[in-house]
Amino acid sequence: MKEMNYSTRSRPDEPTLPEMTRKAIRILKEQDERGAQKGFLLFVEGGLIDFAHHANWAAVALNDTLEFDQTVQVAIDETSDNEDTLILVTADHSHVFDIAGYPLWTANLFGFFANSHFLS
Ligand SMILES: [Zn+2]
Repeated sequence: MKEMNYSTRSRPDEPTLPEMTRKAIRILKEQDERGAQKGFLLFVEGGLIDFAHHANWAAVALNDTLEFDQTVQVAIDETSDNEDTLILVTADHSHVFDIAGYPLWTANLFGFFANSHFLS
């Protein structure tokens, strides 16, 4: 088994996390409506956010966080017809985005701060 690619990488034969979440919910709802089961639990993890943080790839982590946000919205939209739905979003741990030094407000947050007030 292989993990997904980061959202910033080209992945033409790989569905996105929101797409997989939508499909999973629709399959589970269909099984629920057929009576094959009563209710369901779906666990979706945006695990690549953490991988990117550990690699110090801030832009990739932020982009995967945005994709995870879209995933949560998909889950909300796909289950909005059932008032007994609980969507819980949490993290098992966290990382921070650090901005070191004193960059100008126009600095690219994902580059080097070459134009700091203290370098000019
Ligand atoms: Zn971590």
